[in-house]
Amino acid sequence: VIGYFNGRWVDPAEPCVPLDERGHQFGDGVYEVIRAYGGRPFLLDWHVERLFQSMEALSIRPPFHPDECQSLIHELLQRSGESEAAIYLQVTRGSAVRNHLFPESSVKANVSGTVRPVPAGQAPHAPGRLLLLPDERWFNPWIKSLNLLPNVLAKQTAHDAGADEALLVRDGCMIEAASSNVWFVLHGELVTAPADRYILAGITRRFVLDLARDLGIPVREAKLPRDRLAEVDAIFLTGTLTEVYPVGSVVEHPDIPCEPVSAERPRVVPVSPSDVREVWT
Ligand code: PLP
Repeated sequence: VIGYFNGRWVDPAEPCVPLDERGHQFGDGVYEVIRAYGGRPFLLDWHVERLFQSMEALSIRPPFHPDECQSLIHELLQRSGESEAAIYLQVTRGSAVRNHLFPESSVKANVSGTVRPVPAGQAPHAPGRLLLLPDERWFNPWIKSLNLLPNVLAKQTAHDAGADEALLVRDGCMIEAASSNVWFVLHGELVTAPADRYILAGITRRFVLDLARDLGIPVREAKLPRDRLAEVDAIFLTGTLTEVYPVGSVVEHPDIPCEPVSAERPRVVPVSPSDVREVWT
């Protein structure tokens, strides 16, 4: 495992980021996770393109040209010596005394990264279980920002309930999972939520969309209402590290309604696998 911070090669377990760092204090930054297969970063152009879109969306001045960014990713991978790996790259607005306002323009963005090995040739995933939960994220999940607290809480709740992922419901529709995109097979069509502001347009989603179109599989980018779950024939997830992950069941928790979202502070419900009920298999 290797680490990188602003031109230095570091041990990821050792402190090296300044305390007055905006990613650290405000989550004021963006990131990418890139999978390397056989020593080559997969779909690298698309990841770098999305990283620049995320920076632009937050008015973070890019600290490098897209070509330099690609070279850095190649160098990270090469230095790690890994060929099956997860490459994490993060860009934040920089280091400055804590203040919500953007720092002055002389403050440069911070670039950091890690490379970790991913075991190759794993057996096909056993079908996963999803827990339906309300989508409590902000209005811009399309930006791949560091602010992942709602995703973290949803994923932990799913885990506590004996599920593998959270299936997030917004405005009555199942639009995305906590760290992956969701797809439904419905009446012979593949259905996945449109890449509007409410989901992260996954790189794997884009790849699978292309594959489906090449194979002549009908695809519809549409939001699937929660109440149509019973009609669904199959479900799978996609993500850089999730790859294509089949889903075997969907569960819900009777005390955690997805809709309607009330204005009252929700009760903190301890969740265990015995509390959930299956709503789709
Ligand atoms: N949706 C969310 C919320 C994610 O965090 C991720 C990846 O981490 C994805 C979807 C899948 O995106 P990608 O295929 O680019 O990894």
